Amino acid sequence: MQKVIVIGGGAAGIASAVHLARAGKKVTILEGGERLGRKLSATGNGQGNVTNLHVDATHYFSDDLPKVARALACFGYRDTVEFLESMGGIFLPDSRGRVYPASRQASAVTDLFRFELERLGVEVYTGVHVEEIFANSKLRVTWEGGSMSADAIVLAAGGKAAPNYGTDGSAYRLAEKFGHTVTPLTPALVQLKCDPTLVRGLKGIRIEGGVCVLRKGKLLHEGRGDVLFTESGISGDAIFRASSYCRDGDVLEIDLLPDVDEARLARILAHGEGERTLLCVLPNGLSRFLYKKANGDRSLLIRLIKCFPLPITGNLGFVRAQVTKGGIPLAETDENLQSAFCKGLYFAGEILNVDGECGGYNLQWAFTSAYLAAKGVISC
Ligand SMILES: Cc1cc2nc3c(=O)[nH]c(=O)nc-3n(C[C@H](O)[C@H](O)[C@H](O)COP(=O)(O)OP(=O)(O)OC[C@H]3O[C@@H](n4cnc5c(N)ncnc54)[C@H](O)[C@@H]3O)c2cc1C
Repeated sequence: MQKVIVIGGGAAGIASAVHLARAGKKVTILEGGERLGRKLSATGNGQGNVTNLHVDATHYFSDDLPKVARALACFGYRDTVEFLESMGGIFLPDSRGRVYPASRQASAVTDLFRFELERLGVEVYTGVHVEEIFANSKLRVTWEGGSMSADAIVLAAGGKAAPNYGTDGSAYRLAEKFGHTVTPLTPALVQLKCDPTLVRGLKGIRIEGGVCVLRKGKLLHEGRGDVLFTESGISGDAIFRASSYCRDGDVLEIDLLPDVDEARLARILAHGEGERTLLCVLPNGLSRFLYKKANGDRSLLIRLIKCFPLPITGNLGFVRAQVTKGGIPLAETDENLQSAFCKGLYFAGEILNVDGECGGYNLQWAFTSAYLAAKGVISC
């Protein structure tokens, strides 16, 4: 029987292990941490936003978007929902197309995988941090005090973001040894920083806002969603999405009241009673902050509400980022994500140079790439 080692017990690793074991392969997962799916259990603020009804390649960044599109055509959001439900769960979309387990518990998704892996007899070793891969007549992996051989390997050891979940970027080295390159790595889906004095007093205020990213006046991205003011900057899903397009020196312009156009706002403010009117329009702390900043200038107040400018000075880095932008180029893999340099070595998940927007797109990539890698192993 063909033996397969899966390196990494995150979303991509455990999903590929399920596909492989269902196809009758003898599968072993080697996970460096103490538990499978630790990051998966923390996703979506603990609610597990596993995919999105609007999945297509336009929501991704990669060196090879046509390949991402072909991959998603093979295994898209419907396949993900079907796959997860085949293990016993129920998954439902919210009004923005984000798909969650009905229980809204990400840990329940990890449990589905754990039970299925157990049922299929997949061997799981935790606390095993793979240090090297060797390719001779067979493939072999080594770790401190141990080694194991296999006919195929799925390298699903994640990227560099969120190192407290076991992903510090050290896994790229396992592939570089075979001649793979790694594109520049930057944190993505991450809180943005600005001059703290610009948001002083706003910490904790959350609104639904429109967000534009501008570089030297040129519009790079426009989105809408949760905006949360923090001590040193700005967070929320609209900001995470914007962070994929944004670098230091860019300016965010936030529409703090996206459902009310400027003319209507001007009418409301002209007929209302100054600060009291504003208190009915925006959260208290934000109203007071803006009113004070406008200092009696109504047109400035309207500009601040519809186009609140925040020059970006950085982000909170890999430690706080949800995903890694960059990785092993898709161009160095075949259609089933097999290494162009090492036969039998497949990649899945965030280790590849594919990252998605906020909203379930990254887990969808983990599941899509897991399916493709498993399909590649199964068909050879
Ligand atoms: C807080 C947070 C919330 C998120 N929320 C969402 C969300 O709601 N929706 C969404 O789509 N995406 C979300 N993401 C992103 C998503 O979780 C990741 O893109 C996805 O989990 C990547 O899956 P992966 O299997 O490729 O990598 P990971 O899940 O990172 O798994 C990689 C695993 O490999 C192990 N490993 C690393 N090196 C080795 C080694 N040498 N040997 C053995 N094991 C090793 C690690 O310990 C880790 O368990 C979130 C991320 C974070 C951090």
